[in-house]
Amino acid sequence: MATPIAMLSRPGRRALPATRLLVRQSSTSQGQNWAGHPFDVAKDNVAQLAASPRRALTLADLLKHGRPPLSKDALLASANFTLSLLPARLASRIQALRNLPYIVVSNPHVSKIYHNYVHSLSTLIPYQQRRITTLEEENQFGDVLADLVQTHTNTIPVLARGFLECRKYVSPADVTRFLDTHLRARIGTRLIAEQHLALHYASQPLSDTPSETADGPKQQSKIPSNYIGVIDTALQPASIIRLCEDFVGEICELKYGVRPTLKIGGQPEASFAHVPVHVEYIITELLKNAFRATIENGNEREPIEVTIAAAPDVPGNERPVQGDTDVGFELDVESDGGSSNETIGNWTPSSQSITIRIRDRGGGIPPEVLPHIWSYSFTTFSDMDFQSSDNGGMDALNTISASSGHLSSIAGLGYGLPLSRAYAEYFGGSIAVQSLWGWGTDVYLTLQGVGRID
Ligand code: ADP
Ligand code: MG
Repeated sequence: MATPIAMLSRPGRRALPATRLLVRQSSTSQGQNWAGHPFDVAKDNVAQLAASPRRALTLADLLKHGRPPLSKDALLASANFTLSLLPARLASRIQALRNLPYIVVSNPHVSKIYHNYVHSLSTLIPYQQRRITTLEEENQFGDVLADLVQTHTNTIPVLARGFLECRKYVSPADVTRFLDTHLRARIGTRLIAEQHLALHYASQPLSDTPSETADGPKQQSKIPSNYIGVIDTALQPASIIRLCEDFVGEICELKYGVRPTLKIGGQPEASFAHVPVHVEYIITELLKNAFRATIENGNEREPIEVTIAAAPDVPGNERPVQGDTDVGFELDVESDGGSSNETIGNWTPSSQSITIRIRDRGGGIPPEVLPHIWSYSFTTFSDMDFQSSDNGGMDALNTISASSGHLSSIAGLGYGLPLSRAYAEYFGGSIAVQSLWGWGTDVYLTLQGVGRID
């Protein structure tokens, strides 16, 4: 029986407290022109900020403030550190959007994204001009940051729609180049903001009064101790795969009336330190592709076989990230390793990686389709909703509204593979697709652990 739509939600996300997420929708995110806006200050700052030198960020940066709950000083340090990174990153996105052909930037959807960035930068600038020195300021900053994260949540379909509408005016190669840089930068920016927010929530309640801060907060956080901000130091891919299987299975039941089964083999007990939301995104997209192909090929009785293999950890054999190092993290503790070791104590970079092979009997990928699978917006998905809607097919994206407010459908955006690869490569992982045309597809997802945190 089909599952009620309201019951569908993204799997297993460790939600931030609901009250914090219910933030105001910013006026500029509705598409208001920012010229003459009270936040016009951003206009003068963009070029200067975008050009400001940026040192490569390290994983140590994410971990250096310690394991929550943080002391007052560590929390303020994390806030100021976040503030030292975000404005330049937002400015560089604004600059890149401005450099798109005028006809693209003036598209209402692309322009909405642009205004979101301008608005977000504007809200940070007043904080950037002075340091955060009290917990009250840090609290306000937490609200601004939550607003910022929320403003840029679920914006990928908007961006996709904008570029779809502009496809006559820009070459697919240019679109892919822009989106790849943009979306990789977005991963980094969100990670920085979400890391501080997670530390902020996990350190509540803190107060400015000395008695409460001398020995750290009195009330212990309920966040599991294996979390350091958004990093789960004991993440088991097998449990994320099961959650994603449920989620994608629900979508399949709604769309096709059937749900394939999934077998996990290899080393299901394997665990490492990684960012759960990244792993969850990738696995969801890969399972959607495998489930869809399996069902459309009439093979839903053939289980999808998932094999998990943990590579041995070889000390001193760290691999650098392959993504955009300007916005990515480098496994380089030399530049900032001292502070990391002081506060975390036992964090060491490592070569530990886990490879997950997803094998389906979905008939493989046709040879004429294969060269396009890594292009943003390339999809072979179409259904009646998608073709007949008068808004360029975007209704098809709204067929399932998750209870969390997330939209999801089995396919259709053509962002699943390229964006999954961007996430995997962010910490030095990879995705390889091997199609056995006429039979099925193997996808090899390798994820690099973000280091050992004992
Ligand atoms: P979308 O799923 O929205 O179409 P993706 O980037 O996830 O976008 O995939 C692009 C295309 O690659 C799909 O439309 C499909 O044609 C093909 N594809 C991806 N994974 C598989 C698979 N496991 N089996 C068959 N075809 C696949
Ligand atoms: Mg897909």
